Amino acid sequence: MPNLDKSTLNQIAYAAGILAKAQHTIALTGAGISVESGIPPFRGKGGLWEKIDPMKYAHIDAYLRNPAEVWEVLFLSMRDVLQNATPNDGHKGLYRLEALGALQTIVTQNIDGLHQLAGSKDVIEFHGSFATQRCMGCARQVPSNEVSVETLPPLCQCGGMLRPDVVMFGELIPMDHLQRSQRLASTCDAMLVVGTSATVEPAAHLPIIAKHSGAAIIEINPEPTPLTRDISDVTLLGTGGEMMNALASAVEQMR
Ligand code: NAD
Ligand code: ZN
Repeated sequence: MPNLDKSTLNQIAYAAGILAKAQHTIALTGAGISVESGIPPFRGKGGLWEKIDPMKYAHIDAYLRNPAEVWEVLFLSMRDVLQNATPNDGHKGLYRLEALGALQTIVTQNIDGLHQLAGSKDVIEFHGSFATQRCMGCARQVPSNEVSVETLPPLCQCGGMLRPDVVMFGELIPMDHLQRSQRLASTCDAMLVVGTSATVEPAAHLPIIAKHSGAAIIEINPEPTPLTRDISDVTLLGTGGEMMNALASAVEQMR
């Protein structure tokens, strides 16, 4: 860990101590953990979205009003960007913790499938997945790479519109995912919060539930978030890749 200053190294050691002691640890991840895989987040700096406002298109009402435009502007860009993305040191670091027995479950707000590609076994896809499309008529699911996008929106055999199997703004989190995530948050001893602005509800509430239930919160983000001051026990200010790499190595050395 040659480039990290002394105070960061101390914080990493402190965080590793928390993880080494905890019986049950979960992670909450957001778009930031996939930035180093070339997938821009919606908020903050990120070329792709500086010209258009993805939040405007990521609402279910926008899709229902104008499905072709939402496909054109949002879903096709996401599809292109997700196609060749591979896990980075952030995803790999979480998998290394899992392999050590120091992390049990990942709750991700991401729809990119990169945690599973990194090897993680128990991943709750809180906002669904872009890997499949769902028919809004008959609910049939189709792998995304089998869907032709020559005419937009793509249609199912039944004539219904296909849409990515993701949770758009204005839609509910699937009840089983919500309940399991909240149960894990209220029973874990430690929660790692990586690359999320902690502003999209109800995911943003999970660290607060964990904290109020007595868990230690370790946050990784290049910027402070609404959690940093009062909720996080330790905040590693840096990228998901750099910090997860250092943290996983520190926990490995303790085993
Ligand atoms: P968000 O609210 O989770 O914000 C992104 C966060 O990542 C910010 O706090 C930012 O400081 C942080 N960040 C930036 N670079 C980072 C890095 N290298 N390492 C660690 N953290 C970094 O995400 P959003 O973009 O506002 O997305 C809103 C919703 O859309 C969320 O559900 C999000 O997960 C989803 N989304 C998913 C993907 C994906 O699947 N990869 C991409 C875009 C948006
Ligand atoms: Zn159908």
